[in-house]
Amino acid sequence: MYQAKQAGKNRYHLFDPERDRQTQTHLETRRQIAQGLVRSEFVLFYQPKVNMRSGEIAGAEALIRWQHPERGLISPGEFLPLIEDDELIVRIGDWVMDTALRQMSEWRSQGLSLPVSVNIAALHLQQEDFLQRLQAKLETHADVPADNLELEVVETAALEGVSRISRLIEDCRSLGVRFSLDDFGTGYSSLTYLRRLPASVLKIDQSFVRDMLWDSEDMAIVEGVIGLAAAFRRTVIGEGVETAEHGELLLRLGCDLAQGYGIARPMPANDIPAWAATWKPEPSWSACRNLAAT
Ligand code: C2E
Ligand code: MG
Ligand code: MG
Ligand code: MG
Repeated sequence: MYQAKQAGKNRYHLFDPERDRQTQTHLETRRQIAQGLVRSEFVLFYQPKVNMRSGEIAGAEALIRWQHPERGLISPGEFLPLIEDDELIVRIGDWVMDTALRQMSEWRSQGLSLPVSVNIAALHLQQEDFLQRLQAKLETHADVPADNLELEVVETAALEGVSRISRLIEDCRSLGVRFSLDDFGTGYSSLTYLRRLPASVLKIDQSFVRDMLWDSEDMAIVEGVIGLAAAFRRTVIGEGVETAEHGELLLRLGCDLAQGYGIARPMPANDIPAWAATWKPEPSWSACRNLAAT
């Protein structure tokens, strides 16, 4: 590694061949993503969410995948972080919203009315015309009720500009669109902030749900978020419900909804109607009874 002292005191410019190579790869990936958008290489998978008390299907979360011509199916964690500060994430987000709305409309024509949530990046929410564009999308798909669309924003992003985000949440809510705070618990939201953020749903981060079975501090966080949701009259959903044990505990703690591999993995849109048709909630249901044996 070479160091070159620059003008100004204590300012160093580091030339790092390794980092330079990473930048090249980064640029190449960026180019491939832009090309992938044009070539329709992206797909949305959908993961069901269920009501823990009634067993009813509560909706689904749209999750992007990249069907790469050479590398196969690539998960979002491998490419989204590379473009989260790039206008490409806005284009991807627009595509995701359009595709999800079109899918909801198609399901409705098949008799399946399913609320869908989409993940929205911080940069996308910061666009001046976010609201107008959302409104235009809803008008294009006028058969889909606006309250069937939910926007998921990670708690940490919401905390970056609380006043602006809370206004945006209000404005979206006046269109009928709800917000949820994703990965909740990872962003040190104080009670005051939560009061100012009119999001309808809190999604407990899956790391807390996964570890709550053996880690009493994770358990305390899960209990805390569920209590907070009740006090602030928000819906609370547990992510990462992998086993019956997770489901049983969440239900006992008063969690409203659940999502996780133990209920259903994210699946292609075409598989959703068949899944929904075979998912049978029982009269005195608990999510765990229908969980796949693990
Ligand atoms: P997220 O929004 O928190 O989504 C939940 C992630 O957890 C998904 O990973 C899902 O497949 C996974 N998951 C669900 N249930 C379980 C479980 O029981 N166990 C485990 N271990 N994992 C489970 P995925 O699809 O790889 O997405 C990762 C993240 O990428 C998402 O986290 C979200 O932050 C981001 N993402 C996905 N799709 C989009 C998108 O269309 N736009 C944006 N901006 N971000 C997206
Ligand atoms: Mg999410
Ligand atoms: Mg999450
Ligand atoms: Mg996440």
